[in-house]
Formats: sequence, C-alpha cells, structure tokens
Amino acid sequence: MQRFGITFAALRAMNRILYSLVVSVVAVGHVWAGTLELEGQLMQGGLMQGRTDPDAEVTFDGQPVRISEAGVFLIGFGRDAPPQAKLVATFADGSREWRELKVGQRKYKTQRIDGLPPRKVTPSEEDLVRIGRETALIKQARAQDDTRTDFLNGFIWPAKGRITGVYGSQRILNGEPRRPHFGLDIAAPVGTPVVAPASGIVTLTHPDMFYSGGTLILDHGHGLSSTFIHLHQILVKQGDYVQQGDVIAEIGVTGRARGAHLDWRINLFTRRLDPQLILEAMPSAAAQAAN
Ligand SMILES: [Zn+2]
Repeated sequence: MQRFGITFAALRAMNRILYSLVVSVVAVGHVWAGTLELEGQLMQGGLMQGRTDPDAEVTFDGQPVRISEAGVFLIGFGRDAPPQAKLVATFADGSREWRELKVGQRKYKTQRIDGLPPRKVTPSEEDLVRIGRETALIKQARAQDDTRTDFLNGFIWPAKGRITGVYGSQRILNGEPRRPHFGLDIAAPVGTPVVAPASGIVTLTHPDMFYSGGTLILDHGHGLSSTFIHLHQILVKQGDYVQQGDVIAEIGVTGRARGAHLDWRINLFTRRLDPQLILEAMPSAAAQAAN
C-alpha cells in the first residue's frame, strides 16, 4: 500500500509538471500567433522559406501552401513571374496578415548551340509520342507533396566543374528558337560523381529519356524537387532515401547533350526555380545550428 501511495503521489506530481508544460506551450503559442516571416530570394527563379504559426493557413497568389508542424513553408517564383505577388496568412483566431511582394525582374541571356543531331531539335511524330510519355512520368514525380522538410539543411553543389549553362537562357538550337533553359549546367568528364545536394527520396529513375537521357528526380519535401539529367549511370533506385552528400549518379552525355555535363534543375511542383539562387538563398546547416 505504501508503495502504491508513493506511486500515486509521483503520478500526481508528474501530472502537475505535464499540465504546466502544456500551459507554457499554449502561452508561447499565443505570443507566436500572428508571426509571418520570409527569407530567401525575392526575384524571378527565387525560393523563399517562410515561418508562421503552425495552425495558420497560408495562401500564395490565392493558392494554399503546405505548412510543416514547425510552421515552415516554401514559396517560389517562376522564370517569368510578374512583379507583384501576394502572401496571406490566416491565423487560428481568424486574424490575417499579408505581404505584398515585389518580385525582382531579371534579364536572361541568349544561348546558341549548334551541331546538335537534327532529330533532337525537331523530333519525329514517333519521337513526340515517346516525349509525351516521358514528360508525364516527370510531371508525376514532381507532383509529390511530402510532409518531409529535407530542404531545411540547405543545398550543396551536386558536382564540381565549369558552369556552361545557366537558368532562364533563351535557347537557339541549330539556329531554331526553342524553350528557355531551366537548369544549371556543370561540365565535367563522363563518370564524375553526382552527390545529393540535399537529402530526399528518389521519385524517378530512367536510363534514357529522349531529351534528358539518364534522368533522376529527388524529392526534398513540400513539393521541392531536384532533377538531374544527361546522366551516364544512376546509382540509386526509386524509393531510396538518400542523405545530402551521398553519391547518387555519374555525369554523362546522354539525351540532347553535346558535351558531358550535369544539368541540375529545381522545381517547386511545376514551378521551375534557379538552382544557383537556391544555393545562395538557403541557410547552411552550420548557420542553422548557430541560430
Ligand atoms: Zn542544360
């Protein structure tokens, strides 16, 4: 009986501690309510990381945005994003806060590439059917909306080499105007290792697509994905979880490529972002630890 008494007393004491913990969390929650912070690159191709009350609802240009359990969310601006955007947070108590964002407008280069196989610039009917199939696979992989926040540790360069192509360039291929370039091209010899710029789940591997050749997509959470193309070899498989810095593939010259290089793309769902801005914008793991 004595023992039980002690146990009950201990339980009561623990309950009191738990109760006071809950109260203090609620109190802090009230202090935080109404918070809406943004950091990152407020410009075309840029990515911004926001922080708000986890219970808030956030819309970006009218579209709902996923908020993590810690209140973190992402917004991004496409290549031709208009100069204005609107971010609205609605808090649990019904109050609202918003930001009118002035999106920096950029000028893009024109890049001419000659000497590509004519078929890769003007595909046949049969090729177009294949391209349609492959595009659908890529779209599906980029549509993943995962609660993971692997992007929080920042991004590192997936490979070292000379930069031979940048985001947004207008492309003239074999003299024909074509879609802009959305990747960051890093030239290096065939077989050079490619590492994961941030942790993530492998959502697509394909050995040889018409345009992109060996293709790999990594999902970093909240719709943020990396696409790596023209790969020589892929060293991971669909469903694998890889850590930042893990070797995942080898640079190649497959698909519509003239010389060996890695083409790295970043998407926030269908929106195409500039990998170079993201390397600068995202706080590094070290900087976050210091916070
Ligand atoms: Zn490229």
